[in-house]
Amino acid sequence: MRSPSRREFLQSAAATGALAPLSRMSAQFPKVSPLIGIQIAGHSLLDEGLERCLDLVQSTCRANAIFLYSHSYYAAHGRAPQLYADHGVPIKDERRRDLTRVWLRHSAEAFKGTSLGVPEPTGEYADRDLFAGTVEVCKKRGLKFYARILEPSLKELTGRVANAERAMSIGLDGQISGQPCRNNPEWTAWWDALVSDTMRSYPLAGFQWGAERMGPLSSVLWKGAVPFCFCSHCEARTKREGVNVARARQGFNELHTLITKLHSGGAAPVDGVFTNVLRVLMRFPEVLAWDYQWRAALEEQGKRTHALVKAARPAAQVGRHFDHQNTSWDALFLAQWSYADVAPFADFIKPILYHDILAPRLAHQLHELKRGPLAELSLAQSLDLFYALRGYDPKLQPRLDELATRGMDPEYVGIETRRIVDVVQGKCAVVPGIGVDVPNTSVGAPNGGKRPSDQAALRAAIRQAFAAGAGGILISREYDEMRVESLKTIGETLRELGKV
Ligand SMILES: [Zn+2]
Repeated sequence: MRSPSRREFLQSAAATGALAPLSRMSAQFPKVSPLIGIQIAGHSLLDEGLERCLDLVQSTCRANAIFLYSHSYYAAHGRAPQLYADHGVPIKDERRRDLTRVWLRHSAEAFKGTSLGVPEPTGEYADRDLFAGTVEVCKKRGLKFYARILEPSLKELTGRVANAERAMSIGLDGQISGQPCRNNPEWTAWWDALVSDTMRSYPLAGFQWGAERMGPLSSVLWKGAVPFCFCSHCEARTKREGVNVARARQGFNELHTLITKLHSGGAAPVDGVFTNVLRVLMRFPEVLAWDYQWRAALEEQGKRTHALVKAARPAAQVGRHFDHQNTSWDALFLAQWSYADVAPFADFIKPILYHDILAPRLAHQLHELKRGPLAELSLAQSLDLFYALRGYDPKLQPRLDELATRGMDPEYVGIETRRIVDVVQGKCAVVPGIGVDVPNTSVGAPNGGKRPSDQAALRAAIRQAFAAGAGGILISREYDEMRVESLKTIGETLRELGKV
């Protein structure tokens, strides 16, 4: 009989009323060491050399797991060399490289259920099966090895995966839109094959996936984007769910017209932008229903991914990555499904909680909302509203004029970790992504985009995460950006906390 997982143990302990003396009981059970993962891209391991790179990781930040991109279609690309950290090896300019986006080998047979192409390695390092090599090296070192992937969009797949356009969402204007349609059987077959074949082909500790997306309603309100997905599969699905397709189209069209008019300098409606946004939603509740179905399809992908990973390798863990907009400012995404709804299909949730880089990202989001639904608020009022809604202390957090240069106070990491821990109630672990030296890659960013982590704030962020009940941390976002000084600070902090 297999031994119970920590989650099963907690559940059965709660059911028998044995949870109260858990602190005494824990002495009788082996201590579960927290997951200390670090996100690495394939080129780092090969540029620095597998053994050398992992020596540096293990001797500094004390990670016990590496999270390596299986497919880097969607990833940090095209960064200037000064955004790379000095790890003692020559830095190559990735803007001039044609790195492969596939770091393992797939079986073509696994993809026979879709007309989309098999993910194939191409370009630099295409001749290396990095996953096979990393499995061996990690085994020797006692390091856990997780695959990591972000769902790709049309932009990254074009020219790399044949027929990718067949699986994409369709906009209200009838044009192909950027993100995949998760109701399209071509897409579901391709994604499922990718997950299953990855997990069947390599003895991995787990699979972490995420989709860095906004739903159709958020996309309209923030960016004035053309609403999606109005393909035949989505229309059939929403119809089945009792949504009037024609009215959803009409409502989205009204909203899109309202926002794009403002973006092109048109006058605000005399009775207010916010009021008119609400009016469209009241007259066309089908817009909300459409948005909810978009999320439901995303979560169905999550359920299938969980089932496929477990079928391929029952002991492997499934991690769910939620990006910065998902965790922090897309209020609609946060409202659609709670973390408790996601928890049954994840062994751990990894929310991106990068305290430093959130501040400039937030500044950008406030400007976008000002152009649209929050036109009546000043940027400072909008920032105050955000702090109040999320429960942050405005005295600790940056003021509006500091957002470009200061990071968020690390209380942000603690508050958001605690919120998720409280919501999931032990149904899965929470492993926040701690941002380390994450650059600002937007055009014209101060200091050429470099944002070296303040070491005291980095320490505090890690302490906040564990104090809030984190089951570990994911050192993020990319190893190639992390300075040795920061990696050492992480290792020291973990040692002080008794986590390593
Ligand atoms: Zn669709």
